[in-house]
Amino acid sequence: MSDGIGLAEALLGLPGFRVLEVHETADEVVITIETTATIAWCAVCGVRAEVHDRTRVEVRDLACFGRPARLVWRKRRWRCREHACDARTWTERSEHFDTQRVITRRAGAEACRQVGELARPVSKVAEEFGVCWWTVMNAVVEHGTPLVDDPDRVGRVRHLGIDETSFLKANRTHPIVYATGLVDLQRHVVIDMVNGNSAADLRRWTANADPDWLANIKVVATDLTESFRAGLSPHLTHVRRVADPFHVVRVANRCLDNVRRRVQNETLGHRGRKHDPLYRIRKLLLSGAERLDEPGADRMLLGLRVGDPNDELLGAWLAKESVRDVYLATTWRDARTLLDKTIVGCLADEVPRS
Ligand SMILES: [Zn+2]
Repeated sequence: MSDGIGLAEALLGLPGFRVLEVHETADEVVITIETTATIAWCAVCGVRAEVHDRTRVEVRDLACFGRPARLVWRKRRWRCREHACDARTWTERSEHFDTQRVITRRAGAEACRQVGELARPVSKVAEEFGVCWWTVMNAVVEHGTPLVDDPDRVGRVRHLGIDETSFLKANRTHPIVYATGLVDLQRHVVIDMVNGNSAADLRRWTANADPDWLANIKVVATDLTESFRAGLSPHLTHVRRVADPFHVVRVANRCLDNVRRRVQNETLGHRGRKHDPLYRIRKLLLSGAERLDEPGADRMLLGLRVGDPNDELLGAWLAKESVRDVYLATTWRDARTLLDKTIVGCLADEVPRS
């Protein structure tokens, strides 16, 4: 392979095609190709066909060395030589190209992988491939739907996670649109997304699920809202319901924040301002103790010394950390001991909850 065309074909890697020409413009690489099929036979009568004419089909392919690539397929239209035959003319087809699609199959599959597996924004992938947003989105739907629908994708699930997420921001025509995600907590696989976040939405989903599949679920982790608890009834009443650590710690953080605001107000007579000692350490207080480096810990302690004369916020911080410590336990016995200690500690502390 010493000639340029041979090199170009090796780089293109599209079996059944040969490269006629490669040229580049300011923003893309254009590769003109044709199939290697120089002989064709009529599918109707079996007579050898002749080339009638050629059409140009322009299709986007995988980006080439960082630049969008465009394939120009000089597509043959064949004609049957037999006058009595009904076949007349037909154009070439290839497994690499879908008619009506503006990108090759392999580019579509890669666009889907970039968005689905690597969680890249559709707009970025579209820019890289030199196509519009909808082209990538259609490829994601086309190549992704069979993956999502694959019956083997979600097997038996023992630990189910349920959590809401805000899916669309509010605008003039609708309030925030929520969706509920269902996750296999052991395999870290998203099982489904449900429109809405109410008990009825969850109940509707469980009503449609296979009862045997539901019966296998032992534990469901949710946030602390009542809606999901109510939504587990009647199809998932047999499960043990646990709270997601993230949401438990968030409650502790919220209490800590409330105490900080109150102490701030009581000592300074106004809401937090940029240079107030407690306002300045608000983020440090919410970080896990193990994530604070030495300067961070020093700054936090200094802030507390200056802004928390009665150690109320310090008490709330210790309570928050003891809630987090419960998750250090590796056995349920240790966890229970730590949880009891946390509760006793909070009850003994005279600091109000907020
Ligand atoms: Zn024919």
